[in-house]
Amino acid sequence: MLRPFLLSLVLLPCLLPSPARAEWQQHQWEVMGTRASVTLWSEQDASPLFAALEAEMSRLNQRLSPWIDDSELATLNRKASKTPQTVSAELYALLEKSRHYFQITEGAFDISFASAGHLYDYREGKAPDDDTLKRATSHIDARNIQLLPDHQVRFTDPGTVIDLGGIAKGYAIDQGIALLQQAGIEQAWLSLGGDSYVLGDHRGRPWGVGIQHPRNRKAIAMRLPLRDTAMSTSGDYQRYFMDNGERIHHIISPQTGKSAGELVSVTVLAEKSVDADALSTSVFVLGREKGLALINRLPNTSVIIIDQQGAVHYSNDLAPGQ
Ligand code: AMP
Ligand code: MG
Repeated sequence: MLRPFLLSLVLLPCLLPSPARAEWQQHQWEVMGTRASVTLWSEQDASPLFAALEAEMSRLNQRLSPWIDDSELATLNRKASKTPQTVSAELYALLEKSRHYFQITEGAFDISFASAGHLYDYREGKAPDDDTLKRATSHIDARNIQLLPDHQVRFTDPGTVIDLGGIAKGYAIDQGIALLQQAGIEQAWLSLGGDSYVLGDHRGRPWGVGIQHPRNRKAIAMRLPLRDTAMSTSGDYQRYFMDNGERIHHIISPQTGKSAGELVSVTVLAEKSVDADALSTSVFVLGREKGLALINRLPNTSVIIIDQQGAVHYSNDLAPGQ
């Protein structure tokens, strides 16, 4: 008696009309010096979309990397203190965004950190000596980057070097998400290193996005339920080396030219990845008190901070008990 019933259970899914290929599809690749990853729901083969995402991120890398000799940014770094340079609308807009964050963070977010920042080699474990660092740090000041009419840019200090590493990945994610939306995708998770955006939800529930444990590579410190949200984590474990027990990492205090030392991990939630990215770097430099005050002033923006002692601090909107 049981048999026909079992058989019908087995047959039933085959008889239901099903789209050609409705499933979660995943792709990972290397770009902008980090790992990119996308998961999306589509009824079609997503390979062409993955190729389009790769092409867009490679285009941005080619434009914004300070390490590619003929990139727009490297060219600007070489020439802008000699004569004003005309840059693309895209680069100009990112420079304006960076100036905005320089202003609202009272200088903590400063893309000219690179005057000193580029003297470190985290892979080789090399830091500049004190004198060299001091001289280089005197050139950190974003006010030396003049944004002139008609997309022209001039550096007023010949020692200026800029690097968009604190904001470009977020921008690239926003571009990638726009591309997916134009293709009709409604549910996706796109990440580039510590930056990610979740579009829509995951099978009717929020996506569960993890914050990496800052001292255990394999562990998650916390998981957040998110939808249609940008999340960016800045951590002292992402690019660093140890020198006599001191952690030398890639987030630089513009005042000293040295690694910002108060916090170990800062996660910002915002509507756009470009803002979450700039703000996570900013709060890392500002430290707990000033960082929380900044985020609490901004609408639709939240922060989760882990300090050196492992204590977790939340912006007012997330504070437990709210
Ligand atoms: P994130 O992982 O988003 O915090 O970005 C870290 C990257 O931001 C570094 O690798 C640098 O390229 C850049 N960066 C470091 N310090 C600063 C700073 N004070 N202001 C702006 N960008 C910075
Ligand atoms: Mg950032």
